[in-house]
Amino acid sequence: MTTFSLYYHPLYSDGLDRTARFPVDRYRLLAEKISLLNSENNIRITEPRLATRDELLLVHEESFIDRFIEGNLSEKEVRRIGLKPWKPEIVARTLRLVGGALDGLDELLNGAVLAGNMAGGTHHAFKSEGAGYCIFNDLAVAAEVALQKENIDRILILDLDVHQGDGTAEIFDGDDRVITVSLHGQNNFPFRKKTSDLDHGFKDGTEDEEYLSVLDSVLEQLEGEHFDLIFFQAGVDGLASDALGLLNLSRAGMSKRNQRVFDWRRKMGKGMLIFMGGGYAKPIEDTVNAFADLYMMAAQEIE
Ligand SMILES: [Zn+2]
Repeated sequence: MTTFSLYYHPLYSDGLDRTARFPVDRYRLLAEKISLLNSENNIRITEPRLATRDELLLVHEESFIDRFIEGNLSEKEVRRIGLKPWKPEIVARTLRLVGGALDGLDELLNGAVLAGNMAGGTHHAFKSEGAGYCIFNDLAVAAEVALQKENIDRILILDLDVHQGDGTAEIFDGDDRVITVSLHGQNNFPFRKKTSDLDHGFKDGTEDEEYLSVLDSVLEQLEGEHFDLIFFQAGVDGLASDALGLLNLSRAGMSKRNQRVFDWRRKMGKGMLIFMGGGYAKPIEDTVNAFADLYMMAAQEIE
């Protein structure tokens, strides 16, 4: 039986301080939930490696990388990222998080149709600075690593997190090797949006029907593009109960979103790497359930 590979490390939760204004436990709770749901054993959970400095250098500025690893970012730089107070384990956590994306990418390059990381999708990170809970841009690093392969010429980044993928958009601005697509809340962070290849900003309170009809037309439009791999930033912060998102999607609507993306992937016949993205619902169970739905559905796609 073929399995769906999902990367997870205890540091995803434990590398953050418990008093941070961030749902620190969501990774641990999700890993526990998926272990319980995985009765058919079609999900293989593996600990990821550390991303290397050379891999980060494909996207990020050297001094930013080194200052982060050495614990020397300025207070202003740390404040822009958030997740405070930082503990030393945030370095290993961040490198594992990017490593999880790169391990998942390896699975695709070795012929898997789907693989996922149970963290990341850090789309607000720019070349020389982090922002909005994002330090290094795992989508961008994985894209650059993939593009070094002979048979990979073009990557599609489909970002459905409720926040615009501004870091990714800026990193690949004017770069034809990567197509950046972002569907997000128009009035959500970041307040000054960057320009992706395709952006759609939803009004506050957008519900399932409107959301899904825009998604359908975007996916149809993308059928005319050439790409070799799809990176899916699958943030669930569009849920109505999300504390940071302004949309009004239901859990069922979120599942329909995922199913449309997976059906479309199958139609396009390309490999897909799933990046977790945001989710800040109150209660936290809403976020955990929506992510569990996502990964269980992904596992069902594997035959
Ligand atoms: Zn988000």
